[in-house]
Amino acid sequence: MNRNQQLFEQAKKIIPGGVNSPVRAFGSVGGVPRFIKKAAGAYVWDEDDVQYIDYVGSWGPAIVGHAHPEVIEAVREAALGGLSFGAPTAAEVQIAEEIAKLVPSVEQVRLVSSGTEATMSAIRLARGFTGRDNIIKFEGCYHGHSDSLLVKAGSGLLTFGNPSSAGVPADFTKHTLVLPYNDVAALQQTFAEIGDSVACVILEPIAGNMNMIQPSAEFIQTLRRLTEQHGAVLIYDEVMTGFRVALGGAQSLHGITPDLTTMGKVIGGGMPLAAFGGRADIMACISPLGGVYQAGTLSGNPVAVAAGLKTLEIIQRPGFYEQLAKHTQMLCHGLNAVAQEAGLPFCSQSVGGMFGLYFADAVPQSYAEMAASNTEHFKQFFHGMLDHQIAFGPSAFEACFMSAAHTPEHIADTIGVAAEVFTQMV
Ligand code: PLP
Repeated sequence: MNRNQQLFEQAKKIIPGGVNSPVRAFGSVGGVPRFIKKAAGAYVWDEDDVQYIDYVGSWGPAIVGHAHPEVIEAVREAALGGLSFGAPTAAEVQIAEEIAKLVPSVEQVRLVSSGTEATMSAIRLARGFTGRDNIIKFEGCYHGHSDSLLVKAGSGLLTFGNPSSAGVPADFTKHTLVLPYNDVAALQQTFAEIGDSVACVILEPIAGNMNMIQPSAEFIQTLRRLTEQHGAVLIYDEVMTGFRVALGGAQSLHGITPDLTTMGKVIGGGMPLAAFGGRADIMACISPLGGVYQAGTLSGNPVAVAAGLKTLEIIQRPGFYEQLAKHTQMLCHGLNAVAQEAGLPFCSQSVGGMFGLYFADAVPQSYAEMAASNTEHFKQFFHGMLDHQIAFGPSAFEACFMSAAHTPEHIADTIGVAAEVFTQMV
């Protein structure tokens, strides 16, 4: 038994499933999760001292590369000054100003510690602001694990959702309506029938939790128009896409300004930091100004804020996103080419530093299309790559992430290995 296997056995005795977040358990691909000992740049090392080129990037935060020396130094300096005060700091004002400068929809912002907290708080705020209860989300989008968002689609349009997790009372999800992604007609029909009772619509403006799926221009334009007409708050969940697909997030690429935006991952540079922000009149409803309660002992934690501030500084340097997008495209084009040579139904696409790999003839446009892709092929690909020390997320339904530390050499190596793996799969 190697050390990864030993640790997994040991972990399963004391931690449910051996992991602290389900996807880490390799449940959908099988095998033993790698226990990571350290990371630097484009690499992670497991407990058996095997080095991997990493396209997980801690599920998105590691955009400047793991353990970037400047980020580590900022964290060290902040930690020396104290780990947490539970009081306002100058640095949190600075990062709030920075976020407002970069994200078009943000006039005011509040810091929290996880994406789940950000989306949960934004929804409470939207309900408080509108005085309405109903919320709309889209099938295949993930917004963290708060009760009212753990909902699977009802059996038809205008069927409010059932809980998709044990432990969530049906009463908690009876105001959550789930619609198919990219379905303009469903959106129009829903707003025609119940639009004036909708508190908010929450959307991943480029979905990353059913693999990467892009919205059609018509879909997001219709959504903005209908929410505006009916006085519903439009929340863009940019926890994954924020500072990842572009410096100003997906909203800056599509030219659509939501009312509220949630952020996480990149803004903490690998530390627990997230945020929600948007229109000042809506944000004014939060306690202590307004009646919507929201709080956190570790919110705006000084060490996390230091990591975030340094990360935001690095990603604003000239050429950062141009290089990131170029390298990500280079990888996708290369993978598409070798898959075609191997005669394998495969495609990939990228936006900025985020990309999707699909074992299908065409890029999926919805959860249903993604679910029809060949997950057996994904499994073979995933393990074939991992055996050659290249790590992708252990699920066909996850997006992948490039960092600034990935070089053309890493990318060429990855394409070379994929060519071999694809050939063996046919
Ligand atoms: N929203 C989106 C779009 C996410 O991708 C995630 C996590 O992956 C979350 C919210 C929840 O964030 P966290 O895991 O930090 O609670």
